[in-house]
Amino acid sequence: MTLPDLPGWHARPHDAAFAALDSSAADGLSEAVATERLVAHGPNRIDAHAGRSALLRFALQFHQPLIYILIVSGGIAAFLEEWADAGVIFGVVLVNALIGFIQEGRAEDALAALARSVASDVTVLRAGQRRRIDAVTLVPGDVVWLAAGDKVPADLRLFDARALQVTEASLTGESTAVSKGVEPVAADSGIAERTCMAFAGTLVVAGQAGGLVVSTGRGTETGRIADLLDATETLATPLTKAMERFSNWLLVIILGLAVLGFVVGSLRGEPLLDMLMAAVALAVGAIPEGLPAAITVTLAIGVSRMAKRRAIIRRLPAVETLGSTTVICSDKTGTLTENQMTVRALLADGQRFAVSGDGYAPLGSVSQDGGTVEVSGPLRDLLVAGVLCNDAGLAEVDGEWTITGDPTEAALLVSARKAGLDENRLRMEGPRLDEIAFDSARQYMASLHRLDGQLVVLVKGALEVILPRCTTMLDADGEPVAADIEAIDTASRAMAAEGLRVLTFARIEVNSETLDEMQVAGGLCFLGLQAMLDPPRQAAVQAIQACRAAGVKVKMITGDHAVTALAIASQLGLAEPGEKALTGRELALLDADQLRVAVEDVNVFARVEPEQKLRLVQALQANGEVVAMTGDGVNDAPALKAANIGVAMGAGGTEVAKEAAAMVLTDDNFATIEAAIEEGRGVYDNLVKFIIWTLPTNFGEGLVILFAVLAGVTLPITPLQILWINMTTAVLLGMALAFEPIQKDVMGHAPRPPGAPILDGVLIRRIVLVGVLLLVAAFGLFLRWQALGASLEEARTVAVNVFVAGEIAYLFNCRNLRGPFWCCGWFSNPWFWGGIGAMVTLQALFTWLPAMNRVFASAPIPAEAWLEILASAAFIALVVGVEKRLTRVVR
Ligand code: ADP
Ligand code: MG
Repeated sequence: MTLPDLPGWHARPHDAAFAALDSSAADGLSEAVATERLVAHGPNRIDAHAGRSALLRFALQFHQPLIYILIVSGGIAAFLEEWADAGVIFGVVLVNALIGFIQEGRAEDALAALARSVASDVTVLRAGQRRRIDAVTLVPGDVVWLAAGDKVPADLRLFDARALQVTEASLTGESTAVSKGVEPVAADSGIAERTCMAFAGTLVVAGQAGGLVVSTGRGTETGRIADLLDATETLATPLTKAMERFSNWLLVIILGLAVLGFVVGSLRGEPLLDMLMAAVALAVGAIPEGLPAAITVTLAIGVSRMAKRRAIIRRLPAVETLGSTTVICSDKTGTLTENQMTVRALLADGQRFAVSGDGYAPLGSVSQDGGTVEVSGPLRDLLVAGVLCNDAGLAEVDGEWTITGDPTEAALLVSARKAGLDENRLRMEGPRLDEIAFDSARQYMASLHRLDGQLVVLVKGALEVILPRCTTMLDADGEPVAADIEAIDTASRAMAAEGLRVLTFARIEVNSETLDEMQVAGGLCFLGLQAMLDPPRQAAVQAIQACRAAGVKVKMITGDHAVTALAIASQLGLAEPGEKALTGRELALLDADQLRVAVEDVNVFARVEPEQKLRLVQALQANGEVVAMTGDGVNDAPALKAANIGVAMGAGGTEVAKEAAAMVLTDDNFATIEAAIEEGRGVYDNLVKFIIWTLPTNFGEGLVILFAVLAGVTLPITPLQILWINMTTAVLLGMALAFEPIQKDVMGHAPRPPGAPILDGVLIRRIVLVGVLLLVAAFGLFLRWQALGASLEEARTVAVNVFVAGEIAYLFNCRNLRGPFWCCGWFSNPWFWGGIGAMVTLQALFTWLPAMNRVFASAPIPAEAWLEILASAAFIALVVGVEKRLTRVVR
């Protein structure tokens, strides 16, 4: 069955929408209907190349200054009726554009595929049951439930909205949140005015809602404009921009030299046409044709290597920025710790109890001084509050105890079960009438129940928030007495010092059936404390050490108590014993300058509100730091955007946070950030390797032509031969560098200062050195073999082989930036040897194959010539090896 595609969902009552889509708010669709509609409507996804058309993308490949020179050169060659030269030059231009086009498309596809691989689940109502499903399988007629932090999965007609706020920037460009409701609006309203609709791709920043899916995938408003979206920015990175500036410089230099050569040669009376041809040779020689493709490929390889290590890059520039990260600000719970909560200690009736057992299996008991205790009175009230003021679930699946919802809350179900309390029965006996959901900024949760004929509000949250609101507590007989604030505070500190996360419980009787914050503002009766263990991740301990060694600072940011945070931090090796934490309250009192000083020394920030993370990022950045900041909630989004690398949690994070982040951790693990930094540095290394490998050849070729013109001798290499060298070596030799494994010492030095030039003095000197060596060897052997009576073709073949052999030899020097090439293992990169083998084969063909001889004006050369070629290549490798040892580049 196909559904009527009626416009104007926003203009009719939601009942009519349900009727039109043959669905209902009570039950949703049946699985059978949903499956049928999925076939009819297709998956709820917008793929295909969003953005520019293929033709335009191809055309844009020619829009590069260096390619302009090549095209003009080809034109000149054609004008001179040098057809072979013209053909090859245009061939190179075309091949180059094709490679660029394919690589760019592949890189874009890979990025898009990775972005999709971060599954986006939605809560949907099917056959009367709420379930979590992959948003891709949504169909029109589905009923979905949204909460703050969700991304709207399809176009929805809202039928239930509670304080719903949505940002529609992706659709309307308007970044402030708009309120949504359920009432129909005028039929001619624009997108922005359709307040009873929620559109695919927009973000829920507050409230809750139920919506009816009216269109999916390409049928959504976002799907309709997908073709218009501009994807130009996606592949630009600081490095590619720097390369663009570099190319422009190169362009000026090459043109200048070409003009110089042309003028000097002409003044000397050389034939004008020869001089033009020389200018063409100079231009094609000095242009590093393979560079743009190499950069894209290297970055793309970096992205896929990071994905293998569970870090999904959402914005390509992040690959490079990761390499220069100087500070990581990490959440504690779930990132540095396992997020495996187990209640270990209780405080009720002024006494401390121990809870035994590990994990979520409810096997264990509540004891005091080694003896199991009878759970009754205030202790029972405490555990019951933990169960009722709770949204988590606990179930045994195939012998494994698994949880749904917040681990902090699941731990409370486990502790209650250990005391013999069953959450399902308790939830039936004390039905929930209303609630105030937990929120990191509020730091508590409250729920209203009908318990034993009374209306009771149960509250749980951070000690600092709950305890000041308590006036009474229960004595052993369940009678209220004045709360002993000091004793409770002491007991909670003792628990926190053990690294336990402490939750405070309280209750108050009310006579309203709805709940608001005012009702729990004071006069509460203290019930007790539950303290839970969340063990530090062992992988994080090593990762923190690795970061320290690499000059990357690690700071913990948590909503938890300072004492708990410090205890965990010292277990992680993140803080020294006796170190101080800075709390959110103290932080709020500091002005921007004071904060700048404070952020440098403090490693642990506790009781921090999400909004304060933004201030921390800004303070660190003001100190010149490159900041990676983690986050998972809606309120973390501003900090994630402001950070140099926003890092979102793939498993436990909201869609809003993922949308704001540059990188998503699929395992929420701190160690993954460290791995990504390592990869980021490796990628940058490999880019530098390619650049310092490729530029000397261009430099050397340019010099050879310039010298020939200035000295008035025949060109030792023709433009055609230069293109042959550049294209074949770039693809076969240079690309191997993109596949180099990460150098082992990559985390052994401080991060690259942001904004530092790609090539420092040492590397520029090396490029000049190798360029000059190539010039001397090629020119020298060319002249020598001409003097020995070789033909021009033979002498030129010698010169070409000097360049290629020199590049192969120098490739060994470029495999490792900081040590000799054998540091990285002889056979750790199969591409390296494969590339060299292929290159040697091609040179043999170039030299001996008659067909190649005809096209490239090459000729077979004698064995002595080969010996001299090999000797000069070995000499180049040796000189660079010595130079590397003497300078010991540490970057
Ligand atoms: P973090 O994620 O950095 O550990 P949270 O913001 O989640 O910090 O928690 C801050 C504090 O809020 C905790 O120390 C705890 O006291 C309290 N808290 C955490 N989760 C809940 C919850 N589900 N219900 C009530 N209070 C909570
Ligand atoms: Mg939390």
